Amino acid sequence: MHVLVTGGAGFIGSHAALRLLDEGHRVTVVDNLVRGHREAATALERLAPDRFRFVECDLLDTDRLAAAAQGCDLAMHFAALAYVGESVDEPLRYYRNNVGGTISLLDALTRASVRRLVFSSTCATYGEPSEEYIPISENCPQHPVNAYGRSKLMCEAVIRDWSLARTRASAPVAFAFLRYFNVAGSDATGRVGEDHRPETHLIPICLEVALGQRPSLTVFGEDWPTPDSTCIRDYVHVEDLISAHVLVAQRLDPDRAEGREFVFNVGTGRGASVREVLDSCRRVTGHAIPAIVGQRRAGDPPRLVGSPEKIRRELGWSAKHVTLDTMVASAWAWRQAHPKGW
Ligand code: UDP
Repeated sequence: MHVLVTGGAGFIGSHAALRLLDEGHRVTVVDNLVRGHREAATALERLAPDRFRFVECDLLDTDRLAAAAQGCDLAMHFAALAYVGESVDEPLRYYRNNVGGTISLLDALTRASVRRLVFSSTCATYGEPSEEYIPISENCPQHPVNAYGRSKLMCEAVIRDWSLARTRASAPVAFAFLRYFNVAGSDATGRVGEDHRPETHLIPICLEVALGQRPSLTVFGEDWPTPDSTCIRDYVHVEDLISAHVLVAQRLDPDRAEGREFVFNVGTGRGASVREVLDSCRRVTGHAIPAIVGQRRAGDPPRLVGSPEKIRRELGWSAKHVTLDTMVASAWAWRQAHPKGW
């Protein structure tokens, strides 16, 4: 199989490209390197120079994208801006990049006759579900509370309409939406890792404190309606997340009505609080990781935990890495080997 991986120089996309190469597939990564890293693409290329191609290209450049997509059997679409806070300050940039980029990609896929798509969606499309909807299943109402979540929900709508139109045009497509919860960890053998600039995520920040690169972690609020008064999230190991992509890709079949549309949450069903994550980072790194309590961060829901029931039932997926410590340990191993990131 030849897979087009958008955003393949970023954290999750590079892990997907790595898995596809490990499984013997051909991979074309397109990335504009705004958030991705050239070094990640270089590392991938070194692993399989004959089966890997990197195209530095913005998603809005439909012509180049269509050329890159020629000959691909499937697209995995990771490329997006993905900071909640930034999306509140720069909504137009988010809509242009995430929604505009997806529209351009669909146009390119149509031109290149690529008929299968796995789309990176997010639990942020659910907004702040009330307790009755937790753990969150796929039919929880989607009411995003920030521009990032709304941009991803708009992409879902655009992809559905594209699919309807392609069916009417007798050239049906197949798509899957995977709505991610909190993705963490790194490749077990340290070939690619997590490096965001700026870094805003909890586990990488704890690791930067452990490395002495930051003085302390700020816990965003200790006044939440949760058992230890800090926010709860569902952390899923990036390798488990990629397994979900591989499994759902095998089900995509545009030529059969039942193979055309899939929607799955990718979470473990287990929540961990900010304090629990901090304790895990302290255990794994052996560093004290000082923490101070700060204000709540705008847009943070108190508790987001995904139900893995549907993906378990329909795809046979379950998380292999179930403890925070295993996720933190793989992230820590990569960060120790790359203290400054890529
Ligand atoms: N968090 C925190 N301090 C930080 C970064 C994050 O307390 O410096 C909290 C944040 O409020 C949330 C959890 O850690 O409850 C996970 O945040 P992250 O940014 O990693 O992912 P998100 O849930 O926003 O996708």
